[in-house]
Amino acid sequence: MILDTPSSNWNDRQNGLSAEYIIIHYTGTKTADEAKKRFLDTDPQDGVGRISPHYMIGADGEIYKFVEEDKRAWHAGVSKWKDIQDMNSASIGIEIWNSGHEYDFEEFSAVQIEALLELIVDIRTRWNIPDKNILGHSDIAPGRKKDPGEKFPWRKLEINGVGLMPQIACDDTYPPREFLDNPERFYEGLVKFGYSNEVPHDVLLQEFRRHYVPKSFGLTDLDEETCMALLSLLDQLEKDNPQVAYSL
Ligand SMILES: [Zn+2]
Repeated sequence: MILDTPSSNWNDRQNGLSAEYIIIHYTGTKTADEAKKRFLDTDPQDGVGRISPHYMIGADGEIYKFVEEDKRAWHAGVSKWKDIQDMNSASIGIEIWNSGHEYDFEEFSAVQIEALLELIVDIRTRWNIPDKNILGHSDIAPGRKKDPGEKFPWRKLEINGVGLMPQIACDDTYPPREFLDNPERFYEGLVKFGYSNEVPHDVLLQEFRRHYVPKSFGLTDLDEETCMALLSLLDQLEKDNPQVAYSL
C-alpha cells in the first residue's frame, strides 16, 4: 500500500529528460518519521535546502509517496553518471529508512527489500528503466555520498530481476590481468561504465566495490575479483547494446 504524503519540494523535469534511472538512497535518520518531516519541510534550517525523494520505504516496509513520478524530485544533489549532471531530471528517487553510517547502519530488513522490489516492478510498468540504470546515490555522487551503503543487498535485488550485477564465470573467460597490469585501463573501464571521470581513482574504486563487489570492499589495492566484476559488467552492457560495444 502506498501512503500519499505530497511534498511541495519538486519542479518540472528539465532539458527533455525523463525517468530513465532509479536512484536508491538511505535516509540516514534515526527514524523514518524524522525523514518524512524533512521531505515535507519547505523551509529547512539545517543549511541543506529543500529535499525530497519520490518515495520512501519505512521500517516496516510501508511506502510513502512524496512526488509524482513525472516531476523532478530533489534527492540527487551534485551528481554525475555518464554525461548526465542533472540526475534529478533523469531519475526516480527512492529513500529507504536506515540510520546510516553516522548512526547504527542496521541491516536492511526483508520487508523493506520486498517492498522495494514491488515498488520498482510497479514503477517499471510505467517507465523504461533498464537494469543497468538502477544505481545507488554513492554511484552518482562518489566521495560525497555513501548511501545506500555496502550492506545494501544489491545481489538480492538482482536475483529478483532488478539491477545489474557482475556474473563471474569460473571458466576464466575474462582476462583480469588486462586490468591488473594496467590500472589506468581499469579506471577507463569504470568511466565507460558510467562513473564520473572527475573523481580520484581511489574513491571510484571504493564506490564501485561498495555496490558491485562488496566482498572486496575495504581493500585498497586492485584485486582480481574487482577486475573480473568490471569486465563482466562491461561485457553485459556490450551484449545488451552491441552497436556501442566496449573495447579496450
Ligand atoms: Zn542519498
